[in-house]
Amino acid sequence: MSTIPANEPTFRESVDLMFNRAVALMDLPPGLEEKIRVCNATYTVRFGVRLRGQIKTFTGYRSVHSEHMEPVKGGIRYAPSVHQDEVEALAALMTYKCALVEAPFGGSKGGLRIDPREYDEYELEQITRRFAYELAKRDLIHPAQNVPAPDMGTGEREMSWIADQYARMNTTDINARACVTGKPINNGGIAGRVEATGRGVQYALREFFRHPEDVKAARMTGTLDGKRVVVQGLGNVGYHAAKFLGSEDGCKIIGIIERDGALYNENGLDVDAVRNWIVSHGGVSGYPDARHTADGPEVLEADCDILIPAALEGVINLTNANRIKAPLIIEAANGPITAGADDILRAKGTVVIPDMYANAGGVTVSYFEWVKNLSHIRFGRMQRRQEEARHQLVIDELQRLDDMMGDKWSMTPDFKDRYLRGADELELVRSGLDDTMRIAYQSMREVWHGREDVSDLRTAAYIVAITKVAASYRAKGL
Ligand code: GLU
Repeated sequence: MSTIPANEPTFRESVDLMFNRAVALMDLPPGLEEKIRVCNATYTVRFGVRLRGQIKTFTGYRSVHSEHMEPVKGGIRYAPSVHQDEVEALAALMTYKCALVEAPFGGSKGGLRIDPREYDEYELEQITRRFAYELAKRDLIHPAQNVPAPDMGTGEREMSWIADQYARMNTTDINARACVTGKPINNGGIAGRVEATGRGVQYALREFFRHPEDVKAARMTGTLDGKRVVVQGLGNVGYHAAKFLGSEDGCKIIGIIERDGALYNENGLDVDAVRNWIVSHGGVSGYPDARHTADGPEVLEADCDILIPAALEGVINLTNANRIKAPLIIEAANGPITAGADDILRAKGTVVIPDMYANAGGVTVSYFEWVKNLSHIRFGRMQRRQEEARHQLVIDELQRLDDMMGDKWSMTPDFKDRYLRGADELELVRSGLDDTMRIAYQSMREVWHGREDVSDLRTAAYIVAITKVAASYRAKGL
């Protein structure tokens, strides 16, 4: 079931409307606009898996939006609401997202219509391996052509199964590991990938608040410190964004909206405690340190400084856009604001930091992982000496603690080694992500403030992204 009301354009149409608004302000050669906008191909597969003594048929998609650069890149979503229109919209957003942050990929996306909560781990592995087999045999999973990643309903575990399935089908491919990103660290992954999208949301907001003029446009002053934040969806992205903003930037997370209602506490919520509560109780109901309301929209429309929709598309639509009070919205999810709602918000002066920028942290770190896999050396090896000198100080301090604790605690050589390796990679990943988010913001900002005919960041983002895609088509031909 989609969250987009039936009387509004579909997700795909919404993305196209936003694209068209930007293109109308550009001077593209005739025909190129259409070539960029359309989705090149969508593959639909139906496959059967024998489960609990019965054959169960699943429907999956992999959509390739633009191959102006290869491989094409984008996550695989597991949700009962997955359908072709959604997968194509998400693939289009991947094209623009990668262009904006200069990750050298075209756009793609996949989806499997399934409620993962209905299956146990063994069943999910069988289903995932079969889906991966169907895609890989058509080169829709391939290190040089199409590289999936996690998305809603999938994570490291599924990526690991996909990587293994591909490797079994391509035993002589030395680059097989680069066929998918978001893998666990002990199976070719990279430090900082799990937190990357939420971390990117944090870096995006930090960059926004470095520009007083932009903060003023959102009818605020000052820094992130003390800002009241509402987060919709405490999945991987919402959780990390809220956690980092709360613990590192002094934001107050006053509202969290989940499937079964919302929590509100004007003094701030403990994000980790809420997350643990959801994991053990299946929802936010009953959480002790907050007011619980079954009415999620009430909190979505609450008075706050920053609203972070971090779940599904279309949650801010024509039915509620007028009532949204936040002066600043950062789209951690893909497409949480419909085209119609976007018009309303723009007219009333709400500043929207658009999805294609705000949630680009995931694919940015995926790019680092892909490069790491293809280079076959430890990421950041060159910088190792310098990093080691700094980390040695920490190790020395831990050693002192070790000596002091006698046999109550001891630091294993393995821990030392992991610390040295992990820390240097994580630092590099975070600083690379930070640079990427800063540079991309500045490129949008130049268009936002530099052109009289552009009044919002989303249109600016589309203009920057489309310009880059157009340049690459011009350079290489169709
Ligand atoms: N699924 C994420 C997104 O929508 C990550 C994609 C990737 O890492 O390729 O951006």
